[in-house]
Amino acid sequence: MNFTATNLTYLYFGSLLISLLNIYTLLERQQKVNFPWLVRAMFAIAIYNLFSLLDASSTTLDARILWSKLAYFGSIYISPLFLLFFINYPHKRLQLNWRMIAIILLIPTLTLIAVLTNELHHLIWVDIIPISGVPNAYLFLHGPFYWIGIGFDYICGIASVLLIILDMRQSSDKSRAQSRWLLFSSLFPFATSLVYDLGFTPIPGFEILPIGFSISGIGLVFSIIFLKIFDIIPVSRSLLVENLQDGLIIFDNLMQVVDINPAARKLLGIDQLDSGVGINDFPEIYLPALSEITKQTEIRIDGNPGKTLLFLPNTLLDDSAKPAGSMFVIRDMTEIRAVETALQQSQSRYQSLIEDVLDISTVGICILDKDFKVVWINQADAIDWLGDRAQLLGKDFRSILKDYSPVDLKNGDRLIGEILMSYHSGYFIEDVEIRFRSRNTNHGKVLQYSSRPITIGFFTSGRIEQFIDISEQKSLQKKIELLAITDELTGIYNRRGLMEFGRHDFNRARRTHTNLGAVYFDIDHFKDLNDKYGHAEGDKILVEVIRRVKSCLRDMDTFARCGGDEFVILIPEADLQQTIEICHRIQNNVSDTPIKIVADFINIHLSLGVAQIRLQDNLTSLLNRADQTMYRAKQSGRGRIEICDE
Ligand code: GH3
Ligand code: MG
Repeated sequence: MNFTATNLTYLYFGSLLISLLNIYTLLERQQKVNFPWLVRAMFAIAIYNLFSLLDASSTTLDARILWSKLAYFGSIYISPLFLLFFINYPHKRLQLNWRMIAIILLIPTLTLIAVLTNELHHLIWVDIIPISGVPNAYLFLHGPFYWIGIGFDYICGIASVLLIILDMRQSSDKSRAQSRWLLFSSLFPFATSLVYDLGFTPIPGFEILPIGFSISGIGLVFSIIFLKIFDIIPVSRSLLVENLQDGLIIFDNLMQVVDINPAARKLLGIDQLDSGVGINDFPEIYLPALSEITKQTEIRIDGNPGKTLLFLPNTLLDDSAKPAGSMFVIRDMTEIRAVETALQQSQSRYQSLIEDVLDISTVGICILDKDFKVVWINQADAIDWLGDRAQLLGKDFRSILKDYSPVDLKNGDRLIGEILMSYHSGYFIEDVEIRFRSRNTNHGKVLQYSSRPITIGFFTSGRIEQFIDISEQKSLQKKIELLAITDELTGIYNRRGLMEFGRHDFNRARRTHTNLGAVYFDIDHFKDLNDKYGHAEGDKILVEVIRRVKSCLRDMDTFARCGGDEFVILIPEADLQQTIEICHRIQNNVSDTPIKIVADFINIHLSLGVAQIRLQDNLTSLLNRADQTMYRAKQSGRGRIEICDE
């Protein structure tokens, strides 16, 4: 074969270098931006350029025909390969399958076969005629199959351009700049092709198209390297979406799926579902969630293991802020919900445990929030008196306290003001003995009351009210106090009681300058009765004698047993005469009516000593005188009243 370098040879060689550079650039960046259809298109451009170079440099017709045929291996595939690239660029539109690819590549392949077998049918080239005046230049007269191939080429080109324009209308400003570049780059070979096909060639026989494609390749590579649009926006976005753990489904306004990422397919278990399907093609269970575009929906899918999916809807707006569709982010909440449930269970288990413990506590506990509203109350008796638990919840505890009007037992003050002040100042109230008396029911209890703020950090988040019911303790204390001053057998005061209450009588008499009569008396020969009838019968006699003596006394008189059968009476405001009269009444009352003991009736006699308060007296000296006077009565024969010599 003979070759000769012409101007065209250099042009095509330059163009070939450019197309190889394009391939190199794309392959070098394959790790980051992988566009196999674009690389294939670039290869086709390189093949086209290579054989155009060989064609233009050949000196024989046979060689030129051979190279022209081989050039078709590249030229006829460029536009379809670009289309395959633009279908899913700058965003994925549909999943290409082998059938679609075969359809797009069918006509180019048939054209290629027709070119290779042109001698048999002349459907591509009808005739090849030398161009007069230009050495080594031929005009290829094209047959019908050529126009079919070229027509399909244009269809692919137009489709690509339309896809770019379509995308331009929907895209943001930044990616619109990219689209402009794409449009320019893809229109360039179009224009050159048109120039060739319409026969406007600057140099006869010069096919400008390979160079056009190479230049368009530079346009794309320029976008990749300088505008960095390929790597940053669409690719990173598509990588992100494809690799997102969350599912992502984008619907258009007709609720047709525009895009769905692998995570969404996996989460929803819809591997077969493709872009372009409608919402109703989704399994029924997801329809409520996918139909709700205003708020998030959580769906629990039973099974083993079950699944919990959260659907987060988003309305997509176009540039003029009109709804363009909707997007759902689908998040797998299974594990989170499982952990939450486990946490809740253990928390409520502990809470109910604490509540159980607090409920069996005798201490009444009431928890208030920061507005003093009751948020929790236990079942202790100490707090039952406040009323029905359920009705107390949510009530302002200050108003409850007002109803019960607490009274400080020690000081007798109404405490409500003080308690409310502690509330508002965040103070503690520690162990105050309080009587709460309900205004409505007059129902009251003695309680030991504490109240303390609950603080988290520097903030008060509520209060804990604590009530210990000490009503019983208080009444027991009273009983014990009474027992300590009371004679168990007769129920009158004992010696301690005498000294305590006798002192009151004595002091009052001193203060008011009034009289105070003191009587000491002892049952005569009581020991004999005891010996004869026994101790128990003796007790009965003691009780009966006391009953009879008491009936002669006023409430204000102090009556005490100060030894076995010895008793003391203090008679306030009674002068000597009055005291003596009372003693006579006592003596008669006791002695006149016999007391029945077993089968006997016996008369009891008393010896009484009377004394009257003197200026220099104290209680002991007064009692001593009465005692000594009573002793005199014993000595003087018993059964008589002796009066202290004043
Ligand atoms: P007198 O006339 O001198 O008082 O002779 P008396 O026998 O009463 O002798 P005295 O007052 O000294 O003795 C009191 C007796 O009272 C002694 C004891 O047996 C009896 N006694 C003391 N306390 C009780 C008691 O609680 N119950 C009974 N049944 N007897 C008591
Ligand atoms: Mg006696």
